[in-house]
Amino acid sequence: QEDLFKNVVSHAKEYGFIFQSSEIYDGLSAVYDYAQNGVELKKNIREYWWKSMVQMHENIVGIDAAIFMHPTTWKASGHVDAFNDPLIDNKDSKKRYRADVLIEDYAEKLNQKAQKEIEKARTRFGEAFNEQEFITTNARVMEYLGKKKEILERMARSLETENLADVKALIEELEIADPETGSRNWTEVRQFNLMFGTKLGASADTAMDLYLRPETAQGIFVNFLNVQKTGRMKIPFGIAQTGKAFRNEIVARQFIFRMREFEQMEMQFFVRPGEEMKYYEYWKATRLNWHLSLGLGKENYRFHDHEKLAHYANAAADIEFNFPFGFKELEGIHSRTDFDLKAHEQFSGKKMQYFDTELNQNYTPYVVETSVGLDRMFLAVFSNSLKEETLEDGSTRTVLQLPSVLAPTKAAVLPLVKKDGLPEIARQIIEDLKWDFNVAYDEKDAVGRRYRRQDALGTPFCITVDHQTLEDQTVTIRHRDSMQQDRVKIEELRSIINNEVSM
Ligand code: ATP
Repeated sequence: QEDLFKNVVSHAKEYGFIFQSSEIYDGLSAVYDYAQNGVELKKNIREYWWKSMVQMHENIVGIDAAIFMHPTTWKASGHVDAFNDPLIDNKDSKKRYRADVLIEDYAEKLNQKAQKEIEKARTRFGEAFNEQEFITTNARVMEYLGKKKEILERMARSLETENLADVKALIEELEIADPETGSRNWTEVRQFNLMFGTKLGASADTAMDLYLRPETAQGIFVNFLNVQKTGRMKIPFGIAQTGKAFRNEIVARQFIFRMREFEQMEMQFFVRPGEEMKYYEYWKATRLNWHLSLGLGKENYRFHDHEKLAHYANAAADIEFNFPFGFKELEGIHSRTDFDLKAHEQFSGKKMQYFDTELNQNYTPYVVETSVGLDRMFLAVFSNSLKEETLEDGSTRTVLQLPSVLAPTKAAVLPLVKKDGLPEIARQIIEDLKWDFNVAYDEKDAVGRRYRRQDALGTPFCITVDHQTLEDQTVTIRHRDSMQQDRVKIEELRSIINNEVSM
């Protein structure tokens, strides 16, 4: 699995999907740039989300709010006071960790230790090895998998309830060590604000302190009535938005899983008070189905229902995905009650109420939110699609089996040779298809190598122009996953591609 993750990172760079930010200056940690193919994949994921949320729902509209917001926004939302992540410093190494990430790390290590013991025993006992029996009789393995795990779970619960003294005590009880230096010298667990600050205005004394938004949701809440009135929206209705968010994350690792500048795709659904649980369940199911529609495998998703809730929520669940480093949060679905609208009403002094003509009554709507990280979606899709295949002749190929609808390039057009008029026909095919699809031209290297390159880029189709094309206006079309090649008429290409890549 570790190898898979390394492959993902290097493939993303080698094939022009993701570069480290400011690489020539040795990079900026937890900040990444999307390269020529990455930007297409990312855009396609965003579009896939947008279509399914906005285009397919009569009662959902989109907005694009500014990143800068009035600073009082973050007082109302609770981010100034409460948006803190527990943080723990190591006295010896001077390194600083997010407590939840440290716990996760340690859990993973225990798991690995247990797996190693199991593997050792399996090799020693061979056929006679009974895994279940071994686990229950082996005290050390039981400790890794059982008792220590239980303490970790208690620790995670203490974190959720912000009982930091307990967290600290449990860290000591488990003798958790600094992942890098092995030292066990921890200081107190402290709260830490993740928002980036900046200034608006030229002169130092009149400048206003601003924050870069740590979530896109607040841009929707403050515009709630503007959209409702100008769009003549009736409850229940939703407002969707995609855009950048910024968090000064302590632990900068795991590639684009946890970034300091990232993109969210959020939808706030406004409902009658008392009906929120119905819509919460509806959106949980609907969002999971959206993920499943990409075909990355049902077994790679699971729900994690939160027992302990954030200050604004009365129900919350994550959709977790099986990333190369294990199951982790991909999307959050939160029933946020009327917390945000009420808070903005209080801080702004403006009414944020809705008049329900059916009930003939004013109320502050309740909100059910779905929030998914675009970069995490990218990582989920990309890592799940990257495959090393052994072919019948014993050779191997690397293929990026992206869902065709998301592939950066839908077809590559390849003249078999660089002469006899074949390049001209290939160019003509491109001229014709480029109005509908992203298509690429490639004439460099032997055709087999060109196929492999397109496989690695995730291109679903390769169209090859050969000498027979000159005679009968047919080409071969090769399918990325099956590598099957069919001979088809040039005029059929558009509909063949369209059948496979449309939503
Ligand atoms: P985590 O616990 O992993 O930090 P979170 O619970 O703080 O995430 P939310 O505030 O619910 O995340 O944000 C909604 C979504 O935004 C997450 O499900 C995730 O996909 C994405 N997201 C949050 N923080 C980051 C980040 N630092 N980098 C990339 N994506 C992020």
